[in-house]
Order: sequence, then C-alpha cells, then structure tokens
Amino acid sequence: MSDLLADVDAFCRELRPIEELCYLERRHNEQLVPLARKYNVLGMPVPVEYGGRGADAVIYARSLARIGREGTGVRTFFSGHTSIGQYPILRFGTAEQKKKYLPSSVRGERIMAFGLTEPDAGSNPLEMTSTYRRDGNRFLLSGVKYLISNGSIADTVIVFAYPAEANGPDRRISAFIVDTAGDTLQSEDLPAKLGMVTANTGMFEMTDHPVPLENMLGREGDGFRVAMQSLVSGRMSVAAGCLGVIEDCLVEVLEYCHTRHQHGKPIGRHQLVQEHVAAIEMARATTALWIEQAAAAKQASEESPADAALATAADLQTAQAKLFAANAAWDTADRSVQVFGGRGWSNLYRVGRHLQDVRVCRIYEGTDEILKLKIATALLGKDFAAFR
Ligand SMILES: Cc1cc2nc3c(=O)[nH]c(=O)nc-3n(C[C@H](O)[C@H](O)[C@H](O)COP(=O)(O)OP(=O)(O)OC[C@H]3O[C@@H](n4cnc5c(N)ncnc54)[C@H](O)[C@@H]3O)c2cc1C
Repeated sequence: MSDLLADVDAFCRELRPIEELCYLERRHNEQLVPLARKYNVLGMPVPVEYGGRGADAVIYARSLARIGREGTGVRTFFSGHTSIGQYPILRFGTAEQKKKYLPSSVRGERIMAFGLTEPDAGSNPLEMTSTYRRDGNRFLLSGVKYLISNGSIADTVIVFAYPAEANGPDRRISAFIVDTAGDTLQSEDLPAKLGMVTANTGMFEMTDHPVPLENMLGREGDGFRVAMQSLVSGRMSVAAGCLGVIEDCLVEVLEYCHTRHQHGKPIGRHQLVQEHVAAIEMARATTALWIEQAAAAKQASEESPADAALATAADLQTAQAKLFAANAAWDTADRSVQVFGGRGWSNLYRVGRHLQDVRVCRIYEGTDEILKLKIATALLGKDFAAFR
C-alpha cells in the first residue's frame, strides 16, 4: 500500500465512529477537516511542492474508493474540496493562483467548492444567469449558485458567470476564484435533503461581490471548458466513491449472512439471499474494473494535456464509469437493505445510510440521462447531439 493509501485508511478508521455518531444525530461532521488535516489528505492529487501528496489519477481514485466506504457524504466533501475545488486551479491556474490557493487549502485553512449550478441552470449550465462586470481593478459578480457541495462552509469557490454587458458570440462564460468573505456574498445551508446529513450542501447569493482581476481562472470566455474539464475530475471522484459504497455494503452483507439466523440456519444459506450476495460481488468486481480503466485514461490525458484524442477518451470513460458505478451502488445498497430486512431500513445500520446517501450519485456531476446522451452522442456523432 502506498503511504497515501495507508494514511487514507488510518483517517477513515479514526473518522468512522465520529461520522456514525454525527449521522445518528443528523449534524454536520465538524471533525472531518481537522482529522483529514492530521493525515494530510486534503490535497491528495496536489503536487508535493504545494504541500499535497502528488497522487496520480489512479492512486487518487483508489483513495476516494476507500473514503467512499465511510459514506457518500464524506466522499462528497473531498469531491467538492479537491476534485472540483482544487483541481481547476491545478489545471488552469497561474503560478500565483496556485501559490495562494493550494497550500492553504491543503492545510485545511481554506475549504473549497465549485459553483456551477443555479436554481434555473442545472443540466444545462449555459442557461445560468450569474454575471460579472469590470469595475476598475476588480470584477463584480452577481447571481445565485444553488445545490453546492461545501457551499455554505467554503472559503473559496470556483464560480462561473457571463459578462453582464456582452451579447452574441462575446457572451461566453468565464471562471473565477471567488473568496466568500464579505457581506456581498450571503450563503446558507440546504438541510432538507434525503441523505448525506453530515455533509454540507449549500447555496449562496452574490450581489456585486468584488473579485480581484487576477482571480479570473483561465482566459476570459473559457469558463465552459474549465467547467467541463473539472467535471471529468468530479465524475471520476463520484465513480470511485460508489465503488467504496459497494465494497462496504459487501462487507456488511457477508457479516450479516453469517450472523443472522432464520428458519434454523444463517440467512446466507438461503439461496435467494445468495443471489443478492452474488449480484453485489459482480457489481463490486465490474465497478472496480471501470474505476481502474477510467482513472488510467484520465491519467494518460493529464500526462499529455494537448492530446485531444486522450482528452476525449478520458471524458467518455469517466462518464461511463460514473453512470455505471452510480447505478451499481444504488442497486447494491437496495439489495443490502433487503438482506438486512427491517433492520436495514434504518439509520442504525450502514447499509440503510448508504441507501439514503448514494442516490444522489445518479443526479450530481451529470444525471443518468445527461450521461447517457453524452455516451450515445459519442458513438453516433455530433449531428445527433441531443443538447448544446
Ligand atoms: C447533494 C448535491 C450536491 C451538488 N453539488 C454540486 C456542486 O458542488 N456544484 C455544482 O455546481 N452543482 C452541484 N449540484 C447540482 C447538480 O449537479 C445538479 O442537481 C444536476 O446537474 C442536475 O441539475 P438539476 O438538479 O437542475 O436538474 P434538471 O437539470 O432540472 O433536470 C431534471 C430532470 O430532467 C432531466 N433532463 C434535463 N435535461 C435533459 C435532456 N436534455 N435530456 C434528457 N433529460 C434531461 C434530468 O436528467 C433530470 O432527470 C449538486 C446537487 C446535489 C443534489
């Protein structure tokens, strides 16, 4: 095991009892960041020169799979902070932006998030209404970002907006590194959700929120590309986390099959229960293959960023891995609850918590439907594009 995977494992073991208690009490897990800092896992793919662990895409995916066993909420924190928070700066940031934002976020002094979605712009981010305008040596951003992981605890968010005045071909989205401090940005928690009760999902409204000129991320008008590239990283993280959910469900199911007796024998001796065990194992094995393959494709693309064919392969394979893994994890959690019977349908057991939490993986970072359209279009050709 690499040093990073050993540290991730130790982090997960120490986190587990705290996370379980927070889940039962339905409260945000305040210990996650200090513990993650203790094990130096707040910047797994961030280069060592910025304080991170320098993990490649394959090791990072394995780390997220391990974290996913602790719950989709825990893994989602890392997706928001690292996969779509730090990653866009790593990929598109200037040397100054990297120096300012990466070390402090690796130390946990700065929590990161990614603000693309708006109340009226979800599957189609091009329908966003957030705007920016230049005001002397700064930009002023206005608009609402909705359903954002870490959205009301983040110190810094990657935000996307249109120019306020431009029309026609000049009206293209730009990306910004936005510090949330100040009364021109108001955020709030969104607690009325079906699961991930220990993780933060929030929204925020910007009203002429000042952002220094040097905080534009990438070139002006290049924000859609920044967003789409970041979603490749985000989808990979969701897929890997779903593998962890499946692995954890399998451990729980095997244990319960041995210890729970009905009709005079362990329930694992009933053939219809064995059918669930076999299906979960097949989901685990197939999802693991998808994760390794997609992470390798992502790594190959990162090593040759100018290679369009590698970028297309990484984009498609991470989309396929995410679609497959999210549905496999959902089916696994459902089967696991079935094996646990009445006890499974509760917050008291890990399988019940996984069922509540993992459902969102079929929605965020590209819904099932959007990913299917993406996969079909890649095969059929651009003339068949269902959107854009
Ligand atoms: C817990 C949570 C965390 C999130 N974290 C983040 C985050 O950190 N950052 C961020 O920017 N966003 C985040 N999101 C937002 C998430 O990415 C969106 O919810 C998702 O993209 C879907 O958008 P929507 O909810 O507006 O659904 P809609 O786009 O309104 O879609 C509704 C339904 O219509 C379908 N649909 C839409 N268009 C088409 C089409 N062309 N063809 C076929 N079907 C279609 C969808 O698949 C879906 O079934 C998060 C969401 C949740 C729930």
